[in-house]
Amino acid sequence: MDGPENGLYAALIQRGMTRRAFLKFGAAMAAALALPATFAPRITAAIERAPRLPVIWLRGQACGGDTEAFLAAAGPTVGDLLLDLLSIEYHDALMSPSGEAATAARSSLAERFPDGYLAVVEGAIPTADDGMACTVGGRPFRDVVREVCDGAIATIAVGACAFDGGAPGASGGQTRAVGVAEVAPNARLISLPGCPMNVENLTATIAHYLTFNEMPATDGRQRPFFAYGGLIHNQCERRAHYEFGEFVLAWGDEGAQKGWCLYKMGCKGPEAFANCATVQYASATSWNVKAGHGCIGCTMPAFWDSMGPAHARLPSTLPFAPNITADQIGLALVGGVAAVTATHGAATYARELRNRVVGRRRAGAAAAIDAGQALVDQAVATLEPPAVTSPEAVEPPTVPSTEAAIVIAEPATPPEPVVVAAAEPEVMPAQPALDEPGPGQPAQDEPDQPESPR
Ligand code: SF4
Repeated sequence: MDGPENGLYAALIQRGMTRRAFLKFGAAMAAALALPATFAPRITAAIERAPRLPVIWLRGQACGGDTEAFLAAAGPTVGDLLLDLLSIEYHDALMSPSGEAATAARSSLAERFPDGYLAVVEGAIPTADDGMACTVGGRPFRDVVREVCDGAIATIAVGACAFDGGAPGASGGQTRAVGVAEVAPNARLISLPGCPMNVENLTATIAHYLTFNEMPATDGRQRPFFAYGGLIHNQCERRAHYEFGEFVLAWGDEGAQKGWCLYKMGCKGPEAFANCATVQYASATSWNVKAGHGCIGCTMPAFWDSMGPAHARLPSTLPFAPNITADQIGLALVGGVAAVTATHGAATYARELRNRVVGRRRAGAAAAIDAGQALVDQAVATLEPPAVTSPEAVEPPTVPSTEAAIVIAEPATPPEPVVVAAAEPEVMPAQPALDEPGPGQPAQDEPDQPESPR
């Protein structure tokens, strides 16, 4: 590794940077990487000694917006200088060699840079027709990407197209364009999606590598957490208007002039993860929401299909109901939960009502049985046993004992009906149960609700 006298810091000083500005750069990079401020001295110390990092910048099926963002950053800022002073060894739009000389410069990377190089890929990679929709020096761009990225220390895919195909890879595309991850699965990849990528994130990623000798932590799609870990909606300067229900309803209306929330104009800030709202573009002067247009979700996978149309709320994720919006699904879920809750309450009340009725029936039946048994006992107690005077006088019974029991059960003086009358109300379960109001029912002393005309 180069010493401070011929490292990156020396080059920056030669270009007129002050020590104070360099230290401020370290603090800014620590903040951009979501590191504590105590990391700033470590970052500046690492960059002081860092060598100029060879960079191979490949461009495929794209508009060139990422190169434009790289070159057009206002300044010079410290980040611009850092990027200027990277050793861009290959970039087909910036390098002076062309043709065979350019191809030779790219083909001898391993010999020229034994300590390794950094690969940057801009643009989608066509794969249809054996990749012949985009060729470099007569070779499919797909093969060039695989070759360069597999041999690099690390690869940075800049922009939505290099991330996963972007607009060229959207449905209906004829070139079956994909991102770097699909073409070079063995590359040590980090992705900075966006349309275009934010050059500040590229600077911070490289500063992280120079400081820690490794790329920053990423999510499952190789996007660094420091840049893509937060929801745009949560960092947006118009968020207060969202909370207060103040929305732009038409381009140029009063809400638009007052800077109200763009949610109803199709802003995808609530669904997109990126740091656009805090880092912003063009040396932190503005970003699309600040300029008056909603977020289009360009940092998200397959954004051209999944986040479109740009000026409408997201369509349904339900393939069988494409016209239902995410908002409608949310309302339906709330309504469904309320309906399930009400149904559960009604079912619980009905179950309790039934249990009460069954309990009263059982109690009434038990009371009736007890009353009947009391009648039988009373009748038996009134019987006179037959008088037996002599064995001859004993006659066989004329009726079976059961018939005698029946006769006995009909005494001359029937039991008072009050016994039966006492058990009767307990056998009528329905009436007492209905005098208690259930959920949603009026109390008995309330007037009946008028019937619906329907
Ligand atoms: Fe969220 Fe977009 Fe409104 Fe900002 S403008 S608060 S990102 S919906």
